[in-house]
Amino acid sequence: MNQLTEFLANNPHIHHATPESSDYEDLRMGFIINASRHPAIIVRPRSAEDVAALVPLLTQNDLPFAVRVGGHDMFGRSQINDGVTIDLREISYVDVDKSAQTARVGGGVVTMDLLEKLHEHDVVTPFGMTPSVGVLGWSTFGGYGLLSPHYGLGVDQIVGAKIVDAQGIICDADEIMLTAIRGGGGCIGVIVELTLKVYPKSQTLAGAIFFESKDLALEVEQFNQAYARAKANGLPAPLHLYQAVINGPGGKSLAVLFMWSSSDMEEGQKWLSRASSWLPVAMSTVQPTTYLDFARFASSMLPPKTYGTIFTINLFDLTPEVLKVIGAHAKKQPNNPEVLLGIHELRANGPTESSSRTVYHNRQPHFLLEILPMASTPELAAEAVAWGEAFRDDLRKTDPSNIVPSSYISLTSPGDSNMESIYGVKYSKLKEIKGLYDPNNVFKSALAQFY
Ligand SMILES: Cc1cc2nc3c(=O)[nH]c(=O)nc-3n(C[C@H](O)[C@H](O)[C@H](O)COP(=O)(O)OP(=O)(O)OC[C@H]3O[C@@H](n4cnc5c(N)ncnc54)[C@H](O)[C@@H]3O)c2cc1C
Repeated sequence: MNQLTEFLANNPHIHHATPESSDYEDLRMGFIINASRHPAIIVRPRSAEDVAALVPLLTQNDLPFAVRVGGHDMFGRSQINDGVTIDLREISYVDVDKSAQTARVGGGVVTMDLLEKLHEHDVVTPFGMTPSVGVLGWSTFGGYGLLSPHYGLGVDQIVGAKIVDAQGIICDADEIMLTAIRGGGGCIGVIVELTLKVYPKSQTLAGAIFFESKDLALEVEQFNQAYARAKANGLPAPLHLYQAVINGPGGKSLAVLFMWSSSDMEEGQKWLSRASSWLPVAMSTVQPTTYLDFARFASSMLPPKTYGTIFTINLFDLTPEVLKVIGAHAKKQPNNPEVLLGIHELRANGPTESSSRTVYHNRQPHFLLEILPMASTPELAAEAVAWGEAFRDDLRKTDPSNIVPSSYISLTSPGDSNMESIYGVKYSKLKEIKGLYDPNNVFKSALAQFY
């Protein structure tokens, strides 16, 4: 630790915080309070060069380190107790190149900052539902969002990256490195910059539809029957519906985040009317808006930090058996405003990166269920977690042929994380690239683990 202290004394432009610092608590805290770890020191590099100086210093002195940006890892994996946190949030530039239809995004950028910058340039790129999530943490492991049927997942937007490798060298990622980054995140280096595809910004119709809630189980079933019929007849790419059971303004109800990402507003209004006719609507906030304002709205639906955890499962389909389980547990969902069941969907025929250029494996159409038992106190969170666990266990008892073997690494607890099933046929490729670029496992705290 002495060498690090000396390095920081010689580089006063690099901010840092220790448990004695007044800003330590703010800087260490992540989204999940009870999962946020206590590092010995948080170091905040301001450039790729700073990171390049830090990595060899830490490895040569056997100082365990982890990389942190938005702090939304639900299991605290971006910090190590008594270790060093490389907090990239001061590397937060966004440079848009409209002619190339790309944006260079600093390693520490969070979603809201990206959207603000893209908005100024009249472009957009797929983004996650929570604006405080780090852009790199979201996109490099998959990146589900409301624009995925239109433009693909976050991982499909990555066209370039700059990393600090195991030797502390800043490199422009070659095609092999990019393949590992697309799905494997920071397992071969600290990603100090990503280049992402951007698209001309369209008008958008977006917001939440809150349905009346009389019999939640029945409503979940009826909504999904109508949705499945509409899907069988073909859904347009600009349309995405994210279902959630939330404790909203009118109490516990089924809600749908509605996104129409095309300037053909007439067609968008038709789909809005259609989706709004599937159940009686209690309240709707869907309106012509911008991606930025939609993100601000989405951000108001979640607390900045909370107690709790997440349970997740991927299912090929929302079968009647699955809907029964969802309905039964939705009815028992605790009333804490933070609790949520959310359902992401990866539809068929969305744009994707060519399979050989990514280790992201889960491409078959599926539903990603996120059960979020969260609360403002540890006691309420414990009750919510018991509910979430029972919910997850009942989903696991449904028809095994409908359960996708691979789950989303970002949301899978370390105890449930089996890399071979998460990466499936891509695991051997990821392992091979890891062996080429980080044979000594310098980046051992990354989510992708190698045995
Ligand atoms: C409230 C909430 C909402 C979410 N919504 C969505 C959603 O809509 N869609 C979706 O797909 N996912 C979603 N997620 C999951 C989220 O995308 C992942 O947990 C993501 O990894 C968080 O990134 P972060 O930077 O905020 O978190 P952190 O905890 O800071 O980082 C997460 C992981 O990424 C690594 N990492 C981050 N940046 C870098 C970098 N520059 N270089 C190397 N490694 C890096 C960290 O080391 C860590 O292992 C959500 C999570 C939460 C808590």
